[in-house]
Amino acid sequence: MIPKPLRTLATGAAIFLGSVAALNITLSIAIGGFRYATELKLRKDALPCGVCRGKGYYICKLCKGNATIKWSPLYDPIAVNPCLCPTCDGNRVQRCLNCLGKGYS
Ligand SMILES: [Zn+2]
Ligand SMILES: [Zn+2]
Repeated sequence: MIPKPLRTLATGAAIFLGSVAALNITLSIAIGGFRYATELKLRKDALPCGVCRGKGYYICKLCKGNATIKWSPLYDPIAVNPCLCPTCDGNRVQRCLNCLGKGYS
């Protein structure tokens, strides 16, 4: 049997914690919505990035979309090794450096 004052305190604490959690969730949803709205507005107002044409990425400039680069330590055409492109890690595309992958500037 829990004494009454203690139980009231526990209930109060539970309600308090519950409302704090609810407030946090509401706040994060509100902030998320606000960020989304800001993002949409930015997207609408801003011009699409001219470098990547609004895609946010473009074909890797180093490997030209081949995912590998021909690299030779001795500039010997016989010993040319295809290496995984260090810029795109074999993804063939690299993030646009002009708009940082957002697609607009
Ligand atoms: Zn590459
Ligand atoms: Zn861009």
